[in-house]
Amino acid sequence: MVEVRNPAEVVARAARATDLADLDGAVSDCFACPRLVTWREEVARTRRAAFRDQDYWGRPVPGFGPPDARIAILGLAPAAHGGNRTGRIFTGDRSGDVLFAALHRAGLATQPTSVAADDGLALRDVRVFSAVRCAPPDNKPTPTERDACAPWLHREVALIRPTLRVVVALGAFAWAAWWPVLRQVYGNRPPSPRPVFGHGAHWSGTAAPTLLGCYHVSQQNTFTGRLTPGMLDDVFARAKQLAGVD
Ligand code: SF4
Repeated sequence: MVEVRNPAEVVARAARATDLADLDGAVSDCFACPRLVTWREEVARTRRAAFRDQDYWGRPVPGFGPPDARIAILGLAPAAHGGNRTGRIFTGDRSGDVLFAALHRAGLATQPTSVAADDGLALRDVRVFSAVRCAPPDNKPTPTERDACAPWLHREVALIRPTLRVVVALGAFAWAAWWPVLRQVYGNRPPSPRPVFGHGAHWSGTAAPTLLGCYHVSQQNTFTGRLTPGMLDDVFARAKQLAGVD
């Protein structure tokens, strides 16, 4: 694989990706954001005590799920000791525990847990990805990093566009990341003013997927009861209905 070294190369390489496997491989070899490259590698080197005997992935984390997904789940970025450790998005941390358990209850995942990239989990009708593909310090990418990474997201959506019907945005960052996709992938002018993010928020335009808002599955939300399993079940039931998934 050829390393991607700067934002211009992200644009060019993403545009050339012929399918999801090609895109996933290219994403994994991206080094375009110096601060995030330093952080992801430092976390992988120092590790958390509980995972000291494990090899961290320490690279960008591609999307996960089949190419004919009718539902997409859009997150913010991989977690330092979750996706950045295991190499699969939302895998190996409490956020992922909550998310994949809900996907399993909804019949969209073959098992309720996602602990490692080789644990046998498969998704049905849903693809999970993030707006920024590298773990950022404090879960806060800069606007420059967000924009540098956007072409990967845009190409991924373009590749699943033939079947994609519904996008579930986990949190306000993901909700905001959808509007450039609307312009770049679907050629639609984003609504103005932008619809406000909220749990249960809903936006639909013409010839583009319906956007649903859902509180992020972060520990801050799930431990405090701001986001409950029942609330997630309601969102995924609605997403399935809108997407025509049985
Ligand atoms: S955040 Fe995105 S653009 Fe930046 S280095 Fe990671 S994969 Fe590349």
